[in-house]
Amino acid sequence: MDIVKGNMGWIEVIVGPMFSGKSEELIRRLRRAEIGKQRVQIFKPVIDQRYPKTGIVSHSGLEIPSELVGTGGEILERVAPRTEVVGIDEAQFLGEGIVEACARLAELGKRVIVAGLDTDFMGRPFEPMPRLLAVAEEITKLLAICVRCGNPAVHTQRIVTSEELIVVGAEGMYEARCRRCFEPQLAQQKIEEEKKTASSNKLAAARASSG
Ligand code: ADP
Ligand code: ZN
Repeated sequence: MDIVKGNMGWIEVIVGPMFSGKSEELIRRLRRAEIGKQRVQIFKPVIDQRYPKTGIVSHSGLEIPSELVGTGGEILERVAPRTEVVGIDEAQFLGEGIVEACARLAELGKRVIVAGLDTDFMGRPFEPMPRLLAVAEEITKLLAICVRCGNPAVHTQRIVTSEELIVVGAEGMYEARCRRCFEPQLAQQKIEEEKKTASSNKLAAARASSG
């Protein structure tokens, strides 16, 4: 951000697919704020239980302590008046209220740094991140590396069978894919295949027992 006058706050958003380095970048910015003796508070959604409950952890092992919250409203309740910088990871899991909460914190003069997925496993905009991007002062879009071909990857490929929007996980459940290698229908196809095998197994079992 350029130099701002008075006690003006603002919103910085870091987006991109999984493995693109959003948590790393968020941790980097928060560490630098702490080095600058600023009062920092850090939050992540309670839904992300991949890692020990205290702290944001990047896939490369960087870590910073954080508080667990369920909604944007809860962040507003928890932020102390003295806090100057608010960091939020995995914001896509915090619901619509996160947009208003970030705006409110910025109005109170705080620097708000938010990281989250901008698209889901089907490549669709992941609400409420698009709305957050619309009101942000600064946006950083990061890319991962496609595990298939090594090109810059904009997508999060789900490689397990589930139709649920939210399946929390990391290595083994998701991988970074570029535009060309992305297969949004893969999860769906796997489900159909499983159903087919299940029903043909049933049929075979029925035949065997009747014959
Ligand atoms: P995000 O928060 O966007 O999921 P992280 O900050 O947690 O990303 O992790 C980024 C780190 O993940 C990279 O620095 C790298 O060490 C590791 N990594 C693993 N797979 C990939 C990949 N396919 N592309 C880029 N980085 C990867
Ligand atoms: Zn690729």
